[in-house]
Amino acid sequence: SNAPDLPGLLSRLNGRMREDDHWGDVAAYIPQLAHVDPHQFGIAVVTADGTCHVAGDSEVPFSVQSITKVFTLAIALGRSGDQLWQRVGREPSGRAFNSIVQLEQEQGRPRNPFINAGAIVTTDEVLGHRPPREALAEIVQFVRAAAGTDDIHINDAVAASETAFGHRNFALAHFLASFDNLKNAPELTLGTYFHHCALEMSVRQLAMAGRFLVDAPGLPRLVSAGRIRRLNALMLTCGHYDGSGDFAYRVGLPGKSGVGGGILAIVPGQASIAVWSPGLNRYGNSHKGTEALAILARQMGWSIF
Ligand code: GLU
Repeated sequence: SNAPDLPGLLSRLNGRMREDDHWGDVAAYIPQLAHVDPHQFGIAVVTADGTCHVAGDSEVPFSVQSITKVFTLAIALGRSGDQLWQRVGREPSGRAFNSIVQLEQEQGRPRNPFINAGAIVTTDEVLGHRPPREALAEIVQFVRAAAGTDDIHINDAVAASETAFGHRNFALAHFLASFDNLKNAPELTLGTYFHHCALEMSVRQLAMAGRFLVDAPGLPRLVSAGRIRRLNALMLTCGHYDGSGDFAYRVGLPGKSGVGGGILAIVPGQASIAVWSPGLNRYGNSHKGTEALAILARQMGWSIF
């Protein structure tokens, strides 16, 4: 048949990624992440028939960081529906992930749910008026159900490291509170935020968890088809911070990155892809992860355009 040989492609892609010795720099602002060896690369693809193909460091758990913002957004929309959009916008920011400047210009309503300020708001919505451990249990439960495994955990040392050095996120949370856009004390919302960002998954687990965003008959459905489309729209326009346009141009798929070097990308109706390499490009997105996705999408003919 003419179907591309996906296992062969992934294995060659893994080899090609390891040949090039430019790996990018790991995120240094979270001390626990600064210790990660940058010379790692893993990729996993789950296709619409449920098969998972992997190559490289596919079983190593890494800090998924901002990729959890997709899961917390799905939960927040499930709890509050469109009312959530009164508190957070749906426009790309064109700014760094932790930028504060637009928050003043736009009276405390963050541009979108995937920059830090916006994710602090969605986390606050998920928290509601519950103890943080209940909200965290719901988030972890959602991710485990999506991935189909209970072997997914929060790394408390990473969460503690972010709490100790998270001056920028504390500033964002207090700024939101000053505009009355937090329902909880900033420390409670931030504690929940830091802990869900510290979830660890392998690319295999992450690609499995992304199945709910594909919308294929053979894959698990956790949210409605309309909501899947909207989550994908936000991933395409806002999933890579100020590098979102560049990612859409080069890869052509909805995706969400994290500073741990992971990227979850979705081929609507066809596949969930997770890639990980800890070294980042200048936007704070995985350098080799983005390269690999661009090549894979081209070779497979995958694009939403
Ligand atoms: N927990 C990280 C932070 O708030 C998430 C950032 C990211 O992954 O881009 O700084």
